[in-house]
Amino acid sequence: MEDQLYTFIKKLDRSFFIDSEHKVYADYDSALPIGLGQTISQPSLVHEMTELLDLNKKLKVLEIGTGSGYQTVLLAEFAGSVYTVERHEELSKKAQKKLEDLGYNNISFKVGDGSYGWEEHAPYDRIIVTAAAGEIPNSLIEQLVPNGFMLIPVGEKGYQQLTLVMKDLHNQVTTQHIGDVTFVELVGEHGWNQ
Ligand code: SAH
Repeated sequence: MEDQLYTFIKKLDRSFFIDSEHKVYADYDSALPIGLGQTISQPSLVHEMTELLDLNKKLKVLEIGTGSGYQTVLLAEFAGSVYTVERHEELSKKAQKKLEDLGYNNISFKVGDGSYGWEEHAPYDRIIVTAAAGEIPNSLIEQLVPNGFMLIPVGEKGYQQLTLVMKDLHNQVTTQHIGDVTFVELVGEHGWNQ
């Protein structure tokens, strides 16, 4: 997957996902505002997180924090099906339109509090949370398949550990810290309060 991912990201026009005056900075490897106080992550981090997910076309992925839809494209390209939840309707609608324009038909969008996950389509082989949680929401762990895993930034506001949460065949859960990251907050019932 690594080579294909590298080629795909290089070809993907990140400016397509940025509708503000920040569009001109799309080629910089930095996080940028996408409106409503939210940000699109830097490409190197999106790349790293996608690689860690070790995707293939048999897998079903849940993404929390659709945002601009940039990360969603990579999931849709390398996984079988993608379920993505965003709390801001405006961002979700915009991302949906963009991903339809790009021709993806393996993505389902939902507007709502993703800290609950998306029970209806659970369980998922992979879960990726692109907003920061104070602690790992149990609802998300429950929606992982045995042998599935989740990537989630966990920590304080403004400073988190990217955390790999693995569930084994006996539903035992272990975590591993991958590195320091900064994401906007996961706002919701099992995240930070509004
Ligand atoms: N992956 C996105 C990054 C988005 S930033 C991208 O590539 O652009 C994080 C997003 O998580 C924001 O859009 C924010 O609105 C959303 N978010 C925060 N809390 C949420 C929640 N409880 N449920 C769903 N989305 C949430």
